[in-house]
Amino acid sequence: MKINKNYQNIEETYLFSEVAERVRRFMEKDKSATLIKMGIGDVTRPLCRAAVDALVKASEEMGTAEGFHGYGPEQGYEFLRDEIASYYQRHSGVKLYSEEIFVSDGAKSDIGNILDIFDVDNIVAVTDPVYPVYVDTNVMSGRKIIKLSATADNDFLPMPYPGLEADIIYLCSPNNPTGAAYDKTRLKKWVDFANAHGSVILFDAAYEAFITDPDIPRSIYCIEGARSCAIEFCSLSKTAGFTGTRCGYTVVPEGLVREGVQLRKMWLRRQSTKFNGVSYPVQRAAAACLKESGQEEILQNIAYYKENATIMAQTFAELKWPFAGGKNSPYLWVKCPHGMRSWAFFDDLLERANVICTPGSGFGDCGEGYVRFTSFNTHDNTVEAMRRIKEIFA
Ligand code: PLP
Repeated sequence: MKINKNYQNIEETYLFSEVAERVRRFMEKDKSATLIKMGIGDVTRPLCRAAVDALVKASEEMGTAEGFHGYGPEQGYEFLRDEIASYYQRHSGVKLYSEEIFVSDGAKSDIGNILDIFDVDNIVAVTDPVYPVYVDTNVMSGRKIIKLSATADNDFLPMPYPGLEADIIYLCSPNNPTGAAYDKTRLKKWVDFANAHGSVILFDAAYEAFITDPDIPRSIYCIEGARSCAIEFCSLSKTAGFTGTRCGYTVVPEGLVREGVQLRKMWLRRQSTKFNGVSYPVQRAAAACLKESGQEEILQNIAYYKENATIMAQTFAELKWPFAGGKNSPYLWVKCPHGMRSWAFFDDLLERANVICTPGSGFGDCGEGYVRFTSFNTHDNTVEAMRRIKEIFA
């Protein structure tokens, strides 16, 4: 037998284990320090009432002969797909058909699994810095990857250029880790490029709920032409605090055809073969969050994180530290002061302010000299972390 040797080409990511190790060593030296984690990508607000009620009710139903649900439809229950369609209609005026929506246990699985429907010979374009899943899943299957630099010069939003050869293009907007988001004009250029070259855009909209600027599209389908070139991934993880509950969805439009084949049909075949759906209570909870009543609660949580982001943005502006994000995103991508490298600034911040961030170099070469802050901590901790930072660095 032969193993998949491509796995030997995956770069070990030491990022979060190295962060944990440095924090552990620091705590050994200074046991009394009160650390504040501003690097975490996980949410902290609890599930909203509408989600909890729906989970309880659906679980009760499962314990009755009439309400029991066994295997559900692989694509997700109709009630949730309809709710997702109406969510898109409400927030962006985008019309989706129920058959185009595939419910899953989260965006990460779908982002990895979608590669099953593409040949290994396709050239893949990702941004640098990047959400590592895009890179590692392609390395696992042996695809060639090109990196598009996201720097201050292009507002951290790489654009297509003449001669770019890319069959599969990953775009994440609002972006993890930079927090930058494509406006309609820039996104249209990518859509036009993909349609002209027959490429497919894999659009990661996991943070769409943080968008408030009307010029920033919450879905790639707000852009004319996207239905013939883009697959969109979305998730309730950051929208509704489902990081532990697990529910997401992928949209594969009817009009997306390559080599005469509808990609929607291929994805349906893939999912019905390898996936058996998301649990009934979780789908009920997801639907409750997307309904207008649930949305009121969800928006309060998002507003909470956005307020944190605003406090952070004000602090960095006062300190004159250049940064991106924090406006339509929970992430702030901050340039290290005095030309420091990412890890050096991470250590400095840890030791002097007892604040933990994430070194940007862990997301790619272009991340060197930057750190990522998130707004997912509590309000009090965010205020305290910023107070310490100002006191030390002002
Ligand atoms: N996409 C991006 C850009 C993310 O940052 C994350 C999680 O941090 C995901 C996808 C994964 O989302 P999910 O929890 O739905 O798997």
